Amino acid sequence: MRSAGCWSGNQQMGGRWPVGCVALEITQRCNLDCTLCYLSEHSEAVKDIPLEEVFRRIDLIHEHYGWNTDVQITGGDPTLRQRDELIAIVGRVRQRGMRPTLMTNGRKATRALLETLATEGLVDVAFHVDTTQQLGGYHSERELNALRLTYLDRAQGLPLSVMFNTTIHDGNFEEIPDVVRFFKANAGRIRTAAFHVQAATGRGVHEKKTEITLDAVTAQIERGAGTAINFRSSLAGHSRCNRYGLCFEVNGRLHDALDDDAFIARMQPATAHLELDRTNRRKVAKKFLAWLAANPRYWATVLRWTAAKTWQMKGDLMAARGRVHTLSFLIHGFMDAGALERERIDACVFKTMTQDGPVSMCLHNARRDSFILQPVRVQTWAGDRYWQPLSGALSAKPGMISIPIPAQAGLKHAKGRVRQTLSLKRAR
Ligand code: SF4
Repeated sequence: MRSAGCWSGNQQMGGRWPVGCVALEITQRCNLDCTLCYLSEHSEAVKDIPLEEVFRRIDLIHEHYGWNTDVQITGGDPTLRQRDELIAIVGRVRQRGMRPTLMTNGRKATRALLETLATEGLVDVAFHVDTTQQLGGYHSERELNALRLTYLDRAQGLPLSVMFNTTIHDGNFEEIPDVVRFFKANAGRIRTAAFHVQAATGRGVHEKKTEITLDAVTAQIERGAGTAINFRSSLAGHSRCNRYGLCFEVNGRLHDALDDDAFIARMQPATAHLELDRTNRRKVAKKFLAWLAANPRYWATVLRWTAAKTWQMKGDLMAARGRVHTLSFLIHGFMDAGALERERIDACVFKTMTQDGPVSMCLHNARRDSFILQPVRVQTWAGDRYWQPLSGALSAKPGMISIPIPAQAGLKHAKGRVRQTLSLKRAR
């Protein structure tokens, strides 16, 4: 962060955590074909990497970033992985003291599966729902709120924190306030609303018409939130990459929790070592109060801030009999594959784990085939063997990277632009 000129007491990266999260792709297959998909045309042809290789990568994440690291179990859609293997993967991440998140489009994320994964140690489920998915029967983000509610009900009562991922594109930019109003109305059941700005990377057929800036998304979120939100007080890496905001929801209204830069700059580094258990708010409060009791030099700062915040929210607090929820917002500005910036790659807080170690997600998406089509060295009783991504077979030698011709797989397996071309051909 220092070398990128991004370090300050307000910076979480390098302060609270060594990395925002690490994506662990356990399959390249998906049961949807989103118009802004970051996968490649070849992804669907790639077999699922062997379980022992997934376990090796989990250990590698732990070696790099250590205890309490957020690990996104993703793909493609991870629910397409064999069920017992998905369960074992979640368990392995938890055994290593890290925090597994299931990144899914929800289609196959049944209540029963979420229950089993929660028992295995899953911490969060992040549902991706938006109009890039082109789901039958849903023609707007507002109509998709019904589906978001279905997914919320599936996770209801489980020891899981729930996130929603929404891709922002030319077609749904004006609907962001509506989506935020839905998240506000369900603040007690949703922990984080993440917005990913459209990027020209991957196989998606959507062609960007406008440059949607992080500031423009911030303004749309504030319109839906009904309040100004300070997205520059608690930083998540490079300012051209991410914005983070946190609100208190009281009596159906949102109040900015990070509006005091100086308070955040003082308290964030001081409490960086405290584990924030996202599935247990009571435990977090107890840990914070125990820490505060042991650190009297922060009493005046915390008392002043608490008094000011309580006064600001007094009407709503009374109406809600003191019941307060939190709702955090994350805006993520992925880079176009053709416009990668070295400075941001070097300051990246969202990594993808490859067989050779972590790389920036933007770099991985832009060069995906060079990672996913590479044979993977695996240790067997007979010595080192090379797992071949297209056949799933093991060979004695790594061999060359072979590039499949997606069109040959036929319309059934085609995705993205290849699917579009084949469909047009078929229509003629
Ligand atoms: S480099 Fe890309 S993946 Fe990394 S934090 Fe920036 S926008 Fe996100």
